[in-house]
Amino acid sequence: MNCDIIAVGSELLTPYRQDTNSLYLTAQLNQLGVRLSAKTIVGDRREHLVSAVRHALERADIVIVMGGLGPTEDDLTREAVAEALGLRLRRNQEIVAALYARFAARRIQITDNNTKQGDVLEGAEPLANSAGTAPGQWLDTVYGDHRKLVVLMPGPPSELKPMFTEQVLPRLREAIPRRHFASRTLKVAMMGESACDQRIAPIYTRYTDVETTILAHLGDIQLNLIATKPTLEQAQERVDALAGAIEEELDDFVYSANGEPLERIVLNHLELVGATLAVAESCTGGLIAQRLTGIHGSSRSFLGGAVVYSNALKTLFADVPPEMIASEGAVSRDVAAALATGIRNRVGSTLGVGVTGIAGPGGGSDEKPVGLVYIAVSDGTETEVLEKHFAGDRDRIRQYAAQQALDLVRRTLMTRR
Ligand code: ATP
Ligand code: MG
Repeated sequence: MNCDIIAVGSELLTPYRQDTNSLYLTAQLNQLGVRLSAKTIVGDRREHLVSAVRHALERADIVIVMGGLGPTEDDLTREAVAEALGLRLRRNQEIVAALYARFAARRIQITDNNTKQGDVLEGAEPLANSAGTAPGQWLDTVYGDHRKLVVLMPGPPSELKPMFTEQVLPRLREAIPRRHFASRTLKVAMMGESACDQRIAPIYTRYTDVETTILAHLGDIQLNLIATKPTLEQAQERVDALAGAIEEELDDFVYSANGEPLERIVLNHLELVGATLAVAESCTGGLIAQRLTGIHGSSRSFLGGAVVYSNALKTLFADVPPEMIASEGAVSRDVAAALATGIRNRVGSTLGVGVTGIAGPGGGSDEKPVGLVYIAVSDGTETEVLEKHFAGDRDRIRQYAAQQALDLVRRTLMTRR
């Protein structure tokens, strides 16, 4: 089943207010196995509201409209939904009586416009509002030969949330067939988004019952797989099958099949083989160390390192020969390798990482352009150096370099296991 959410309120079309309710509702609906087909935000204009509701009814099984249920002129949700569905509104005297009682209890004079909060769509059930005055509505109806569930709720989050859990959720559970959903997140390092998609699209498009989304960010790709089925086992079976097929295609580009970040995987690999790591970072300025130390328990295998930004510190902390820096340049294959072996020897780690590059925006030349980064990993006998040309601004180049360094450590550990 799918659902459309309509948020009503001209204030939601200004820079000052956000529709946060729909995020809450989406999380709740997903847990029921209901997916969202669209979200709409409409101002307090009747004709816009009517057309938004009609569009929603065309494509979704469930339509939730929130906001605009108050007593004032600009609260038009009831009228607009009635018009879109071709239904009449009936004044519910019980609701009106309750409103009178509520106002009387507070010694406030009720105004006439308040009574329109008692208007209920033909065939709808009013939903009690435990945190405010405007009741919601639940309508199980037929529109163009299809069964539709239409739900109206007040806009204030403090009223919407209790109404959803107390009134709407139990009714939805009754009304929709039980579905279970399973999800998997695969993580891929240092592969372009389009290159990745080109390889896996022929696979995931065959799994029409699994929803696949791709999120790419700075050398990191997240593949989210979601299946919704009558039983959890069926759903799990489908995502696992697709995950397996994708892993087979992308092979060791997939570094996690459970959504973990790359730094955690690197630390897992280190612990598994009882190895330790130290870093000598120039252009990444500590980003690699920051990511590793962000993981609880990293001290078991990450020893630390040095930010060797100046030439002097490359020599002081990682024993890079000054003559090498003079002849090859600080950004060079040899210096990266020397940083990796130097920091490793200094601290006695199993592996050493060296990174040196030109993050820009200045400092580039024809021979050594901005984005050129050398990344080295040494285990004492072998030192592997990658030459990379990253695109983007200073921040992106630094992030890419850190990601590439972590991935190179991962690959090194995988081949040595
Ligand atoms: P009701 O249906 O209870 O009468 P309303 O639309 O008449 O709601 P408003 O005065 O427009 O009430 O809004 C009340 C408050 O709720 C405002 O602060 C508004 O920003 C907030 N609100 C309305 N809709 C949303 C939403 N979708 N997400 C978050 N806040 C919202
Ligand atoms: Mg409003």
